Formats: sequence, structure tokens, C-alpha cells
Amino acid sequence: MYYNNDTVIYFDGNFMKAKEAGMDLYGQSLHYGYSVFEGIKSYSTAHGTKIFKAKEHYERLKRSAELMHIPFHYSAEQLTELTYELLELNGFTDAYIRPLVTCSPNMSLSKGKESYLSLLAWEWSNGYLVDKMKIMTSGFQRPNPKAFKVEAKVGGHYVNSILACQDAKDKGYDEALVLDENGNVAESSGANVFYEKEGMLFTPAKGSILPGITRQTVFEICRELNIPVKETFFKPEEMRGADAAFFCGTAAEIVALDSLDDVPFAKNWEDTASQKVQQAYLRLVRVLSL
Ligand code: PMP
Repeated sequence: MYYNNDTVIYFDGNFMKAKEAGMDLYGQSLHYGYSVFEGIKSYSTAHGTKIFKAKEHYERLKRSAELMHIPFHYSAEQLTELTYELLELNGFTDAYIRPLVTCSPNMSLSKGKESYLSLLAWEWSNGYLVDKMKIMTSGFQRPNPKAFKVEAKVGGHYVNSILACQDAKDKGYDEALVLDENGNVAESSGANVFYEKEGMLFTPAKGSILPGITRQTVFEICRELNIPVKETFFKPEEMRGADAAFFCGTAAEIVALDSLDDVPFAKNWEDTASQKVQQAYLRLVRVLSL
């Protein structure tokens, strides 16, 4: 699904065939989840293939590496150029791009000595497979911000995401709504969340979330469309039964939620401000303007 015999990747300074690349079994990243990564999308647009918010994603990658003390020397401009080259070598237009920074062999619990950059991509045109998601409040909490750098996109953090997402699926739901250590809504396993009440959008304030680039784009769209939006802390009770809600992320784009803990969101999706945001987002990524 992710690669075949012809797929080209970028690894540690060179373009090469994915099937010829290998990973060092003694690397610090494999043993301890000590890696940083990104998830980026490219779209086929009227102006050719465009990587959406490439600069923002690569600046976050650099910041994640910095926060984790992982050496990393590429600029956002270099990374963007390499990514366009990678897409072209593979003949991809609508694709998902996964930059990954891993560390050299080191079994000690000290900072990374050397790092390797991989750029992987695969063709992918639609967001989440489920259209209107049934979600449940998870019993798993997000990582404690005093134990992790939660604003960094770190491999090891996603063990928590796997536990929460799989638990929700095992219980018959599409996704998990994960709370912070104070019982406030944080985000899902891999996306940010908004809910709508009386034409106003609410989203968890920063603290225990990965502050997404899509979340930031939603703020920009709301400003453009005059939709009021508020960052705040709230409990799942305040969100349950609201007019509408959605997850947002690079992969998810804007995906409507059907219900939280089996309580449906009240309004028809078609009658909500959230749907206007969804439509504006889809226009933005393809046309690069609202
Ligand atoms: N939260 C988590 C935990 C995520 O993994 C993601 C996806 N990167 C997001 C939020 C959304 O971030 P973005 O909009 O930057 O893709």
C-alpha cells in the first residue's frame, strides 16, 4: 500500500529506491520512540502540484527536533525543494508526505548524536475513510505536558494515540476523543477538534494538544468568513449534543462528527457554520485561496 518496487524515497542525502533502504537496528529512535516527523499533503491544483503549508510543516519539524535535542540542519526551503523533487520522481500529485528524522545507534538515554532525514510519500487523494464519525470519550488521557513536549510531533507520543484509537475501534466507534489530565477535551488520536454552538466554534486551548496547522487554517477561514471562534478549556459534557463538531488535521482535512458517546450532534451538517468551514478548506487546498 505504501510503496512498490519503483517507489523512490529520500534518505540521508540521497534519492534511492524504498526497497533498498534499511534501518539500523541499533538506532535510538527504534528502541525509544525518539524520532520526530511530519504529515504533509500535496494537492493537484490549477497551478500544478502544490504542497499545502509546506513552510509551516517544515518549521514545525525543525522545532520538534530542537525541542527533542535531535540534531537537524535542513532549512524549510531546502526541505520543500527536496519534497517537490520527490513528488516528481514518483509522478505523484495528490500525495501524503511523511518526513521522518531518526537518530544514529545509541543505547544510552542521552540526546541524539547524529540524525538521518527520510522523506517518504504515497499517493492519497481522500481524507479519513469515514464521512461522519461516531466517536467516544476515551479512558486514555493525552500525555502529561510535564512529562513530554506535547507541542512537538514525536514518534513515541503516538503509542498513546494507538492505544486510544484502537480502544475506540474495539468498542465499535470510529475514533477517540481524548481528554487531558484535568478531564478537559484535548484532541483525537491524530487530529484537533472543534464543536459548534449557536453559530460559534469552540476548540481546546493549547496546553495538552498538538496545535495543528489545520487548526490554525480553520482560524484563518473563520476570520475570513466572519465565524466567531474561541480557544478555551471545556469538558466533554459541554460538547456532547452540541449543534455540530468536526475533527481537523492534514490527513483528516475537516471531517464531520456524527455523535459523541452515542449522543448525536443536533443540527444537519448542511445547516452548520462547520460545513462552511469544511467547504472553504477544500477550496483553499485546491485553489490556494478562499
Ligand atoms: N493532533 C495530533 C495528535 C496529530 O497527530 C495531528 C496530525 N498531525 C493533529 C493534531 C493535526 O495537526 P495538523 O493539522 O498539523 O496536521
